Order: sequence, then structure tokens, then C-alpha cells
Amino acid sequence: MRSLLELKNLKAILIATNNPGKLKEIRELLPKKIKVYKPQDFNINEPKENGKTFKDNAKIKSLYCAKRSKIVSISDDSGLEVKYLDNQPGIYSARWAGKKKDFSIAIEKIKKKLLSKNKQSSPANFTCCISIAFPSGKSFEFLGKVFGKVCFPPRGQKGFGYDPIFISTGKTKTFAELKPSIKNKISHRYQAFKKIKKYFKFN
Ligand code: IMP
Repeated sequence: MRSLLELKNLKAILIATNNPGKLKEIRELLPKKIKVYKPQDFNINEPKENGKTFKDNAKIKSLYCAKRSKIVSISDDSGLEVKYLDNQPGIYSARWAGKKKDFSIAIEKIKKKLLSKNKQSSPANFTCCISIAFPSGKSFEFLGKVFGKVCFPPRGQKGFGYDPIFISTGKTKTFAELKPSIKNKISHRYQAFKKIKKYFKFN
């Protein structure tokens, strides 16, 4: 299959995100020999994420970038699903932080919604869909999840987004308290990457 060969010999890839936290984590998960580009390097703006699932949105972003840059593009659509909030915020995780992308607002919103249901914490999971798209219009999607709980108050300075309130099963520290090298071996993003590596025999 042509795409598979292209990926095994891949020299450059565009990481289709303007989120610095995601960009850093995806860069660390990719083989070092691959040169990475950002959307700004090709003057590409952000497409409208109007899909109904993580998969829809990941595909929208990777294909949009691959078609415009004419190089293989990788995107990530991810979010936090809180069980006692009927899996909200889900695909709206970024939007809950508002235009200024202030995650203290989004975290406070989760806390208030849980308190209104007389809950102090909740089982939760992060989900990530990674999409790899080729300029030809072909794309592949991979889903990864990490399970745990959300609890308050927020703790830790590392990571990004909802990391200060998420504790994965078996750990006592939040994702924002763990060393990035540890988060990157258990995260939803890593779980999706494991599938990519297996599928493409990539590294
Ligand atoms: P989107 O995929 O660009 O729609 O944004 C996903 C949002 O989910 C991010 O802005 C974060 O708030 C949240 N999110 C995704 N992955 C993580 C993670 O690893 N840690 C913390 N928050 C995350």
C-alpha cells in the first residue's frame, strides 16, 4: 500500500494544531528523525470543527492541512469525558474554556456542575483521536483512551488543559503533577500512537 510506504519513509510531517501543549506532546511521540511543521509555516488557518465526534473533527483538521500544505499531516482531536456529567465536555472540551482558552474557567464549570449533582468528583476519561492524512485525500484514524477520575482542587503546574484535575487509575498524582515523560507513557495520545506504530510499523 502506497500510504504505508510513504509513512515508513516519512521525512517531514505537519502537526495540524495550534495548541502548544498538544504540539509538544505529539512531537515527543513522533520519531526524532522526522522534521515537523506547524500550520503557520504554510500560512494555514484553523478549519471549523463542526463534526459530531472526535473522529470527525480529527479528520477535518488533518485533511484540511494535508490538502493545503501538500505534505502528510497529523491531527489530534481530544477531550475530557466526565461520567457524572453525561460525558461532557467531550468534543466541546476546548470550547468550555472560552475564547481566551482559560482552563481555570472550564475546570470551575466542571466543579460547579458536579456540586449541583452533590458530587465532589467523578470517574472520567480522556479520549484522543489521531488522524493521519495524505495530500491525496486518504486518511487513517486511531482512538486512544485513558481512564481515571476528576477531583478538586486542581493540582500541578505541568501539562495543559484539564491536566490539573485528572488522576489516572493507579496513580495518586494529577497529570499536571506527573513528569511529562510519565504522562506520555500512559496518556490517551500515547494509546492512540501505540496503534499507529503497530499499524504502520513506524519508527
Ligand atoms: P481540541 O481537540 O482542539 O478540540 O481540544 C481538545 C481540548 O481537550 C484541549 O484544549 C484540552 O483542553 C483538552 N485536552 C485534550 N487532551 C488533553 C490532555 O492531554 N490534557 C489536558 N487536557 C486535554
